[in-house]
Amino acid sequence: MLADLHCHTVLHTIFKGYEDVWFDFEKPYMESGTSRFIPYMQSDFSTMAVGNIEIVVVALHPPEQKKFFNNNDGNLMGFLEMLVATIFTGFTLKQLQDFRKDSYNHYSQLMAEMDLYIKNQNIVKRIKELGKDYSFKVVKNFSDIQDIIQFNTQNKDKKQIAVVFSVEGLHCLGTGHLNFNDIHNPNNVSFNELMQRIDKLKNQAYPILHLTFTHVMHNGYCGQARALVDKFNKVLKYSNEGINQGLSENGKLLINKLLDKTSGRRILIDVKHMSLQSRLDYYAMINGRGIPIVASHMGVNGLSIQSVPQNAGKYEPQDPDIEGGKNDFNQWSINLYNEEIIIILKSKGLIGLNVDQRILGSKAKGPRKINLWGDKRWANFFFDNIRHIVQTAMADVSLSEAEKVKVWDMICVGSDYDGLINPIDGFPAANDLPDLKQQIGKILKEDANKILLQGLNPDVVLAKIFHRNILEFLRYNFN
Ligand SMILES: [Zn+2]
Ligand SMILES: [Zn+2]
Repeated sequence: MLADLHCHTVLHTIFKGYEDVWFDFEKPYMESGTSRFIPYMQSDFSTMAVGNIEIVVVALHPPEQKKFFNNNDGNLMGFLEMLVATIFTGFTLKQLQDFRKDSYNHYSQLMAEMDLYIKNQNIVKRIKELGKDYSFKVVKNFSDIQDIIQFNTQNKDKKQIAVVFSVEGLHCLGTGHLNFNDIHNPNNVSFNELMQRIDKLKNQAYPILHLTFTHVMHNGYCGQARALVDKFNKVLKYSNEGINQGLSENGKLLINKLLDKTSGRRILIDVKHMSLQSRLDYYAMINGRGIPIVASHMGVNGLSIQSVPQNAGKYEPQDPDIEGGKNDFNQWSINLYNEEIIIILKSKGLIGLNVDQRILGSKAKGPRKINLWGDKRWANFFFDNIRHIVQTAMADVSLSEAEKVKVWDMICVGSDYDGLINPIDGFPAANDLPDLKQQIGKILKEDANKILLQGLNPDVVLAKIFHRNILEFLRYNFN
């Protein structure tokens, strides 16, 4: 069985108004090089069933309104820009129009997405390909997950998927809408109202494991890392508002409210999409508090923070696609720096690795657009990020040998399927994760990688990456 720390199971279905979140499974015939242009389902429940997914942390995520305007100034995009936006997002023109209305409300959309999961849980669906009956359940605590694992062990023909809620972007709570004609948009609620909404989330029946504190547009409280490649930025004329800024004082108060254990269930912070400055601000504010750091759908950039020029364009990433890279990784600051790998390890946190080609590596590494490589090399693309995380821990002098081997407890899959990504070829959807697991298993058994295993059995390590680490994290952090 497998587990995934981050995917968008209903992102497309919810905007098409489907009542049912299960689809007849149909294997995508397109390789992912072209998938951006021909949308297909990457992580709907049927695809996940075929992919043998037992635990999934779904990202609840209404798209940000500002993504559908130029420059945050309320100017409507022209036809060409809209066309680019449909290609980039996979949404239809009609959907884009809805996001641009002043009635579009991130928070009510978040509630609707949650309701869709809750309404559809426990409904049994026959998965023809497997000859098995499947259902999913939104879980409330670790003991619910244990029940599902027991159910799956005891039943051959009936299976369940455990769904854990997470939220991607503080904007979901009611910030970051466009102020049309510079008039305050009432969907952008006050700081106090945000605090109250956090209180509600912390006390609802279906708990939230973590909240990704920002996304690609500024939410007013936390600087974000640049996420979009230049070609999209240029055509869509996106504003740089918030890019590479840090955490505001009110942002820190919101974080402390989320983390507080006395006013409801703790909601952890996921540092993905935060700018390097915001991440450093966050690590400083939780230092010594025993809070595990989640980085849910990441890649590494292979760099030390020391290498970042700290002048005007502070933490501005180099785009290796344009500049030619210093290493084989994607060097943008949206990815993890070496020092952060150690900070997350010491926090007993989790790093979920994305399957997006662009997050995992640079163009310098080889052809990315066409599947000339075969699955093994694409699996290596994914494994290179694993290797770097492990090597970084092994080289760190502040860690004991026993602490170094714990690096294998924090790496997992955070696929970001259906999060508008271009997955590594050969693994375009959740049903391909068992193949990816098999390929990674082969790589782990190669002689050259023995040293990385630090005495662990490769099969044990494989099970950790693809299931166990998420399960163990939930054992300690989802009660
Ligand atoms: Zn994301
Ligand atoms: Zn996502």
